[in-house]
Amino acid sequence: MPRSQNSKIGVTTLEDISALILQSHDLDETLRNIVTLVAKRMRTNVCSIYLLDPDNVTLRLQATKGLSSKAVGKVTLQIGEGLTGMAAQKRHAIAIEEPQEHPSYRYFKETGEERFHSFLGIPLFDRNNPLGVIVLQTKEPRQFNKEEISALSTIAFQISSIVVNARLLDSIRKHEQESKRVSQALDKAQESIELHANDVEENPQNVLSGNVAYPGVAIGPAAILEERLGFADILHEEEVDVQAELKNLESALEKTCIQTIFLEKRVAERLSESDAAIFHTHLMILEDRSFIKKLQDEINDGHSAAYALEKTVSNYIEAFEKMEDNYLRERAADMEDIGRRILANLVGDTADQTLHLKHPSILVARQILPSDMAALDNEQILAIITEDSEKNSHAVIMAKSMGIPAIVAVRGALKNIAPEDDLVVDGSSGKLYINPLETIKEEYQRLQDDQNRELCRLEEYRDQPAMTADGQRIILRANIGLISDINVAKRFGAEGVGLYRTEFPYMARGDFPNREDQYELYSKVVKEFKGQPVTIRTLDIGGDKGLPYFSPPKEDNPFMGWRSVRVSLDNRDIFRTQIEAILMAGNDGPVKLLFPMISSLDETRACLEVIEEAKQNLMKDGLAYSDDVPIGVMIEVPAAVRLVAQLANHVDFFALGTNDLIQYLLAADRNNPLVSKYYDPLHPAVLQVLYEVTDTASSLGKGVCLCGEMASDPLTMILLIGMGLREFSMPAPFIPRIKAFLKGVSLEVACKHYTEIHAMESSNQIRQHLGEILEDVELGY
Ligand code: PEP
Ligand code: MG
Repeated sequence: MPRSQNSKIGVTTLEDISALILQSHDLDETLRNIVTLVAKRMRTNVCSIYLLDPDNVTLRLQATKGLSSKAVGKVTLQIGEGLTGMAAQKRHAIAIEEPQEHPSYRYFKETGEERFHSFLGIPLFDRNNPLGVIVLQTKEPRQFNKEEISALSTIAFQISSIVVNARLLDSIRKHEQESKRVSQALDKAQESIELHANDVEENPQNVLSGNVAYPGVAIGPAAILEERLGFADILHEEEVDVQAELKNLESALEKTCIQTIFLEKRVAERLSESDAAIFHTHLMILEDRSFIKKLQDEINDGHSAAYALEKTVSNYIEAFEKMEDNYLRERAADMEDIGRRILANLVGDTADQTLHLKHPSILVARQILPSDMAALDNEQILAIITEDSEKNSHAVIMAKSMGIPAIVAVRGALKNIAPEDDLVVDGSSGKLYINPLETIKEEYQRLQDDQNRELCRLEEYRDQPAMTADGQRIILRANIGLISDINVAKRFGAEGVGLYRTEFPYMARGDFPNREDQYELYSKVVKEFKGQPVTIRTLDIGGDKGLPYFSPPKEDNPFMGWRSVRVSLDNRDIFRTQIEAILMAGNDGPVKLLFPMISSLDETRACLEVIEEAKQNLMKDGLAYSDDVPIGVMIEVPAAVRLVAQLANHVDFFALGTNDLIQYLLAADRNNPLVSKYYDPLHPAVLQVLYEVTDTASSLGKGVCLCGEMASDPLTMILLIGMGLREFSMPAPFIPRIKAFLKGVSLEVACKHYTEIHAMESSNQIRQHLGEILEDVELGY
């Protein structure tokens, strides 16, 4: 079978499996559907799934297409027994032609498998524990090729998560009593939170407070990012005024069409034409006569417009989901999106705010998802206020890169703030004033003017190189995520891009971008930086970054789970396509390729292998690409710290991802306010690890760029340059301040201070010492 066809099989089968899961919640039925689908797609006579019994040693035939159905549930073998057991024991694929001639072959009369002359078995895992085996067999003798093994491995991965989830659900049901108890406890906790919120409400001055995520002062009207309204919120109305409802519908459809045209235009400007194309499809649906007629018919039957919408859209979604054709099936998600937007207009909900602010406003939300940030118009956002605590989340990281003040964990914000309320955000103390007295406003206006003057003063640093007082050159690059970050980065004088988080453009879309789309985007970034390097990081989804069209499995610990390069390596086609686009962009300027979340040499080798495959594909397709793009890995998992010397044999540079490294080293979730005091960049262990990586890498002649958020803190900068780091990447608005700061510090003094704190045992001691230094340093600002 040709290679491209095989890769397609992998991806389309995965999509089909996702659709099957939607249709069924029963594990046996799902597995039966999966084996039928996989046998058809892989063109084999047999596909079977064996699952491990609770005793952890017995594999039991759980579903089969091609073997006798009577064998299901009966045929068992031990781990290590037969070829299937061997795949589970050896934890890798077993592909054999004429399996009956193999010494480990074991025959089961019940299955009728003597007719089959080829065998491919791939183990299934739950995290690292064996879970079962998926087996393919064919009547003709044949060897399964590399691509088929890779496609089946990806499918195996998805099946594993289905099994794990189904078992989880099962155990949840069994422990209903327990969960009841837990939910009662949660209710109590919620009551106490609400009590706290009431305290806030009674605050006569209408001042709320939270944690500063990005400093600065902002004054302006509030825009509330409403929580998405769902169809479940619609109530069936008994008595409706048909004419009024028909009119309502007409006006909601019209508004939705206009908004969709705006959306299309804005996404085309901020991302690309092809990203915006999805809204064109939405317009077609909105203007489709039969869609409109169905809605009208429901209303004429005596239902409200909202109810008619819910019913019609749900029918469409259901019908789309059942379609064979991939393209049509994907339209189900579009229908949902359109339905929600019409609904928002019907009930007068300002859902349009999620993408379009009428004038510069302070955005108030329970939570801002990275995909919201990808879609919002950053020119119109003056500041961000969230109720949830997400100081180190990607939404806040993006706010920082746009230079927008942000306060998080502002309890009671949504309850106390109405749209267009006058707000003052004090992003140094973490205070938020709602409709404040004129005197307070004036005071902050003065502060804001000072701040603007300060920014103008820092402007002078934009075109100057970053340099310490004694002339040591330091490189400061920008962390970017969206096309609109390019201008911000240039405005603040970044020397190229040290970290391009490619997941954000993926988030603002309806499906995976193809090679051309990705190339267009990366090439645009590279060309804009005119000869300055751009480090493009491959997809880093999972953790707190999801894609609307690629739902990750439900996991207890997503940050420890199936995220980042792990997802990429399990979806090789998607991974290879992205690498191809990056290598192509390398032809347009100095690109560096960066892999996130690397935790082993094997993973690194696997990534390098995918680069080779990508090059071969590009060569085969006759496309221009750069053959000497430097390759780097992120050091953000503690295991990678220990492997720097070995990794240096395989890669050209390292990027220190301290946001994750700190959370993994200190076992403190970067987004969890309950443990934020444990998430400490100045923890002696963190500093020692950073030193270890810097020292080892530079002794081996490899570059290291620190691209976590701690690079933007002048307090830590003194230690970082003292320990030998010379290259940093940060949200661009911090660059002028850091340049100004560096001008007042000599490298010699920084080294001396680093040596002093190196021996210290606690972060308090370190912090105190730094405070004393800072008082002495002639600050440049
Ligand atoms: C990091 O972990 O430090 C990093 C830069 O990556 P991200 O914040 O995107 O996880
Ligand atoms: Mg990271």
